[in-house]
Amino acid sequence: MELVVDFQRTTQDGNLQSTSARFYIPTTTSDVENLDINNVLKQFLEKIDAFSGQNSGWTVSKVNYLRLCWGSYRPMEVGTFIPTPKHIASKKAVVNINSSDNYCFQYSVLAGMNVASMNLHHQRHKERAYIYKPFMHLLNMEGIQSPVPISSISKFESQNPDISVNVLYHDNDQIIPIRTSIYTDQRKHHVTLLMITDGHERFHYLSVQSMSRLVAGRVKSKSKHYVCHYCLHPFRKEDYLKQHTIMCRQHQSQQITYPTPGKDDVLKFTKINYQFPVPFVIYADFECFFGEE
Ligand SMILES: [Zn+2]
Repeated sequence: MELVVDFQRTTQDGNLQSTSARFYIPTTTSDVENLDINNVLKQFLEKIDAFSGQNSGWTVSKVNYLRLCWGSYRPMEVGTFIPTPKHIASKKAVVNINSSDNYCFQYSVLAGMNVASMNLHHQRHKERAYIYKPFMHLLNMEGIQSPVPISSISKFESQNPDISVNVLYHDNDQIIPIRTSIYTDQRKHHVTLLMITDGHERFHYLSVQSMSRLVAGRVKSKSKHYVCHYCLHPFRKEDYLKQHTIMCRQHQSQQITYPTPGKDDVLKFTKINYQFPVPFVIYADFECFFGEE
């Protein structure tokens, strides 16, 4: 939001001076709240007060220009079936439950809980939705819409006290932890979901059956690894993971990648298009222009 205000003042020798000033209020994003116009007005008034205060003598003569820009907020659409990307499928670490309804979250959570007593037939067809349908009543979905957005998972956890849910996101070739539950490994059932996209703003949850296999592409050995839920670093021994997790869980979930020597190991500022144009630049420290002599 942008506001241009004209100011006037009378100088000591009786002349009338005028100027105009431009005020901005930063962009906000909200999917629930209405625009609080009173709060916006208050912020503008504070900025005008700051400008005209301190005995400057400026008074508002008129509001010249007010610009309000807005755009509609489109939350991610989750739930449509999307096939597993080939290089993920080859790891045999996830189950992608095939259904045309909006319950991929529920099916994937139930698959992660291993609720269905799997006979040989079921084990071969873990991706069929009918295996999980008889167990849907185990999940308390009251007040939660389907498909389930990530923002509703906290509510899901609070009304399903036996279950904790983490979400990984598959982006190009990377797997990134985007939601790590505060109840991870503290509840009877811990499930990890993998969110995949079709590249057109549609998303779909899969059930992660083995973190070790899912991130195994990053380790040389084929043996089982113990994977940190917070940074996805694989450890060869469970004890190592335990020691690491004490520190790692203090931070937001994240994925650490290392630069490739000779390729991207020197940081340079390249995003010139993200710089802000400024109408004036004032250099106050002239010493910085002098050379050593
Ligand atoms: Zn970690």
